[in-house]
Amino acid sequence: MTDIAPSASAPQYPSVIDVVGKTPLVRLAKLFPQPHITVLAKLEFLNPTGSIKDRIVRHIVADAERSGRLVPGGTIVENTSGNTGAAIAMIAAARGYRAVLTMPDKVSSEKQNVLRALGAEIVVCPTGAPPGAPDHYVQRARDIAASIPGSFMINQYDNLKNAEAHYLGTAPEIWEQTQGHIDYFVASGSTGGTVSGIGQYLKERNPEIHILLPDPVGSIYFRYFNTGSFDRSDIGTYRVEGVGEDHIAGCMNFGVIDEVLQFNDDDAFQAARALAEAEGILAGGSSGANIWGCMQLATRLDEPATIVTVLPDTGLKYLSKIYNVPMV
Ligand code: PMP
Repeated sequence: MTDIAPSASAPQYPSVIDVVGKTPLVRLAKLFPQPHITVLAKLEFLNPTGSIKDRIVRHIVADAERSGRLVPGGTIVENTSGNTGAAIAMIAAARGYRAVLTMPDKVSSEKQNVLRALGAEIVVCPTGAPPGAPDHYVQRARDIAASIPGSFMINQYDNLKNAEAHYLGTAPEIWEQTQGHIDYFVASGSTGGTVSGIGQYLKERNPEIHILLPDPVGSIYFRYFNTGSFDRSDIGTYRVEGVGEDHIAGCMNFGVIDEVLQFNDDDAFQAARALAEAEGILAGGSSGANIWGCMQLATRLDEPATIVTVLPDTGLKYLSKIYNVPMV
């Protein structure tokens, strides 16, 4: 442990957007005491709105500004309640855009209020509206975007700039922070931007690096990866937020993934609690899923190995769901 560094360099930034990224990579030596195993976690919850999504929204907005699709006074529209919504609200505020975010009414009032506090306009839609119906929150976002001149949709699932943000940003940071000493990379996914962008970068530098996607029971990715097709009967509910999917996202590139392992809510939540207790790192449920994936690797590996993972968001968003619950 180091003490306060004398005259530590603490740079000044022109805006909060410039603080996004350059997150620390931290060794988890207490959770993974096996001498031959090194597990390194990238603390993405240290981004300004507490998640990895700040990176993709910054990249997509910057690209839209460069190409002229987003001009001063423009409006950013997206169907999202979660981390992407918070990132949009922050960046819209900092860049002077209007943000309109649609979401189903099952989204907690705390989450809606975070977006409102950052100045976004919230359009709440009935959770039960069937996909494609005018009051379904995805369709509503499309209709709003079509009705507002100069509006721009982030379209995080199918916008390849999402994966590119990780290819150009997160992945080179990991490469530099490890000096290329990586054997395994673990990341669960929803849009697939994280695992696909980082996976592609790492594979290009060293095709031997093994990319593992933990996928929740109730998501279609596990079967799709293993058989090339998906079955609607695989779609189910689960409590871990932000990972797994009920459709194939355009950003997901299975070509860079070597293995998909299925986890359940208990696996992820227990791993998140173990991370908090052993390392003092309070992260969300998808971080727990990633830690669970690292645990699966650590128990099966005999040879020395370095495993890198990401912790996409903070556990502060899930205190009542993951942490303040009776132990069984
Ligand atoms: N964890 C959380 C908490 C998220 O919000 C997301 C984004 N949906 C992910 C993980 C997965 O990231 P990606 O969309 O890049 O696959």
